[in-house]
Amino acid sequence: MSGIYIHIPFCKSRCVYCGFYSTTRLDVRREYVKAVCREAELRRGYISGPFTSVYVGGGTPSVLGADVLAGLLSYIYKVFDIDRQAEVTVECNPDDVTPDFAHAIARTPVNRVSMGVQTFSDARLRFLRRRHGSADIPMAVDNLRRAGISNISIDLMFGFPGETIAEWRDDISRAVGLGVEHISAYSLMYEEGTPLYAMLEKGSVSEIDDELSLAMYDELVDRLTVSGYEHYEISNFARPGFRSRHNSSYWRQEPYIGLGAAAHSFDLRSRQWNVADIARYVDGISQGRVPMEREELDARTTFNDIITTALRTREGISLDALALRLGSAYRDTLLNGASHYITDGLLAVTDGRLHLTRRGIYVSDMVMADLVLVDE
Ligand code: SF4
Repeated sequence: MSGIYIHIPFCKSRCVYCGFYSTTRLDVRREYVKAVCREAELRRGYISGPFTSVYVGGGTPSVLGADVLAGLLSYIYKVFDIDRQAEVTVECNPDDVTPDFAHAIARTPVNRVSMGVQTFSDARLRFLRRRHGSADIPMAVDNLRRAGISNISIDLMFGFPGETIAEWRDDISRAVGLGVEHISAYSLMYEEGTPLYAMLEKGSVSEIDDELSLAMYDELVDRLTVSGYEHYEISNFARPGFRSRHNSSYWRQEPYIGLGAAAHSFDLRSRQWNVADIARYVDGISQGRVPMEREELDARTTFNDIITTALRTREGISLDALALRLGSAYRDTLLNGASHYITDGLLAVTDGRLHLTRRGIYVSDMVMADLVLVDE
């Protein structure tokens, strides 16, 4: 299993909380897409196919418009050996998903759409400086369904300043009411360098307290579970058969190639990341080289990566696979480090796999930070 990630770093406007690399300079879109196609050619042999997933993320890929997206995908399909059953996802902003757009992308290999919904409250959407309104959300889902897209994912956020548990319950109910196949939900993060972080520093907003945040997470897990969603990763929920194959491959440490500015790649032995600057990226590609940095992975880094990815999933870490890949000393180190968490009921071993328990999920950051190996 291997994946292709394509980064489209364009947004019509910037959201207040966003720490991702993207720009509102849309005039260079076509030039950028050409560079991505050229990078695909340059890196054709980076990992071998057939690729089982393609993920067009951003930024906001839907700002390219359906024709450019279709052209990009058709090029990628020419360069790489992509499985006929591959999961092909494109991220969209709800207000870009018009009936025409939905029908046009349904004629491409795209078979899954992921939308940044965040909340159904217009006041909270305005606070985030999202450009869609709550009325756009059901319309977008409806447009996708009518066009034949049968796998839709939405992102939600909770823990807004002043948000009550009742308001969060309402968002969850409306999300479930959409009937989508997949829901990802994250608490609002205050990332340094974002306008939201500056607001926090100035004291014009304040974080909700940990107890309320945990209660909101509990509510999310309970409500989605009773509504038929599998809680298969800390922040991800899917109807049976609709787990994100692309993201699951990250958590299973499978190889992927990332194309575009700021995109990351992983070939099992090393990871590399392209320069997070469109001008430098396009310039480098035009000279026939990919501007990127690379890191060879030693056993310790691989061990740490496994802890911080596989442990996020419901299945957790296969102890046999870990021993096979890195040697039994690493498995024993992990079990030693995990033993008191197992005794305390935060971790458990089931069918040879170490995983977080429901209580463990609440303190997962602390558990993972404790299990990773640091330089002495
Ligand atoms: S649309 Fe997404 S990538 Fe663009 S600014 Fe908002 S959160 Fe960031």
